[in-house]
Formats: sequence, structure tokens, C-alpha cells
Amino acid sequence: MLAELSPELIVEVQRAAILLQTASKVCILTGAGVSAESGIPTFRDKQTGLWEQYRAEDMASPDAFERDPQLVWSWYQWRRQLVYGTAPNPAHHALAEWQQNAEASKPPQTQQQITLITQNVDDLHEQAGSSVTHLHGNLWRNRCNNCDAPYDNEFESSNVIHKKVSFDDKLIHCSHCDGYIRPDIVWFGESLPVKAWQIAESAAANCEVFISIGTSSLVYPAAGLAQLAQQNGATVIEINPNPTPNTMVDITLAAPAGVVMPLLVKQVTNK
Ligand code: NAD
Ligand code: ZN
Repeated sequence: MLAELSPELIVEVQRAAILLQTASKVCILTGAGVSAESGIPTFRDKQTGLWEQYRAEDMASPDAFERDPQLVWSWYQWRRQLVYGTAPNPAHHALAEWQQNAEASKPPQTQQQITLITQNVDDLHEQAGSSVTHLHGNLWRNRCNNCDAPYDNEFESSNVIHKKVSFDDKLIHCSHCDGYIRPDIVWFGESLPVKAWQIAESAAANCEVFISIGTSSLVYPAAGLAQLAQQNGATVIEINPNPTPNTMVDITLAAPAGVVMPLLVKQVTNK
């Protein structure tokens, strides 16, 4: 695997690993890029087929749903089909192994605390066995756009255990108020779930190392977490084959997460 990386990058991975070995608190933020190698397109990728003419950013908003609920609902049903049946890649697995390894170490006071936060709405971290905080909701859940009542439709919470899956794109009405049912996702311009954001802020402010994996660092407030970490003395590591123009990053690992993460975790855990 090392052969896939340039000598410069290998040195940077080693630098990151040494830092991580001694850190007692690590905060990790993942974005769409961590799931790209599982076959889930990021928002910066051009859309395919029927949806080629639309920009993802223009669909994932309350205004878009207000304007044309049918179009947005159909788009999400299509995205659900894209995501359905995808599996975690080596990056998800490495992160889960690292967390599990830390939780198993003894005595408990010496355990490394690894808080995993994601902007993703897929459940590939869970499928790999991680415990993760979702900042932007869950693709497999729905709620009423009007009264917020959860809509218990055919989707089960995890991809692994889907029992009845419907990709029907007919709009659904809420049984309480007749409003439209929408995916339980935080759209552009909407506020983040309070509890999830508190967990993220506290983990970022208190960590010694902050790792940003596969995010374009454009979507706030999540993008501000790295800044918060650095202001509080943390070292910031970025893993992205197309590093973001982000001057605050201390270590850049410019390669796909599925290549870098297994290598990094192997070195951090000495396994
Ligand atoms: P983004 O689409 O804006 O950016 C993705 C980033 O990942 C880019 O910087 C790209 O260079 C990088 N990348 C691509 N392949 C990679 C790889 N193999 N390894 C590491 N990095 C890689 O995504 P974002 O920053 O997460 O923000 C956009 C919003 O889109 C988020 O709110 C998120 O909820 C949503 N989204 C989620 C999913 C998902 O759940 N899988 C997919 C698309 C978009
Ligand atoms: Zn309702």
C-alpha cells in the first residue's frame, strides 16, 4: 500500500501518526469524500442521467422544496437508490477499527478519546461499526415539512437491515397536518440539530488533533470546527486528494481517504 504514495506523502503520514499516537483526544470530521470510494457521488461531482441538468446544491434547500416538492422528493428517492446497497470502504473500516481499538485499551483512564463527526447522511460509518454523530441528518429517515412529525415509512434506519424499501417518487402527505413528507436532512440554510452540534463543538474545542477527511470545507457551520480546534491549540490534519485552499491546515495528506486511513491507523495503533 505504501507504494501507492509518494515519498513526501509517506513522510507526512508518519508525522501525522506520531502526533496521533500521543494525543489523548482526537476529533474527526468526515464529509462526502469519505464515501466517494464506496460509489456515492459528492456534491461537487457532476450528476448523471436524468439529473445531469441539475446542481445538487440547488436541490438540497428549503426553497427548492417550497418551489417544487415533487422535484426534490424525486431527486432524494433517486439518491436513495444510489446509496442503497453501497458498503463501507477501507477508510470507514479503518476509522471503526481505530475507535474500537481505543475503547478496548486498558486501563480505561488511558483510553484515547476519538470523537467521529460526519456531515454525511449515509450510514456507512455505522455499517463499519463506528459510533458517529451526524450533523446533517439521515438519508433513511423522513419527517413532515410542516409539523416535523416523524414519518415512519418503509425505510429502516440502517442500510444493512432494510426490510421494505420503496423508491416510489409519489409525494406523501402527513397524517397529522396534511403537509408534505420530506427527508430528515439538514438542508442548506437550515440550522443543525442542537445536541449533535454541541457534541461537535465540544470535541473540536477540546481535542489535541483535528482531522478533516473528504470535505470541501465550504459548508458552514461544520467547516468552522477545524478553526475552533486550531484556536484552542489543536493541530489540524486534512485528508483530501484535492486539498482545500485552507491556509490553517498543519498537515496535508493529499490522497484518497481509502488509501491513507488504513495506513495511518495501522501506524497509530501499531498493528
Ligand atoms: P463536498 O461534496 O462539498 O466535497 C467533497 C470533498 O471530498 C471534496 O473536497 C473532494 O476533493 C473530496 N474527495 C473526493 N474523493 C475523495 C476521497 N476518495 N478521499 C478523500 N476526499 C475525497 O462534500 P462536503 O464537504 O461533505 O459537503 C457537502 C454536503 O453534501 C454535506 O452537507 C453532506 O451532508 C452532503 N453530501 C453527503 C453525501 C453522503 O452522505 N455520502 C454525499 C454528497 C453530499
Ligand atoms: Zn405534519
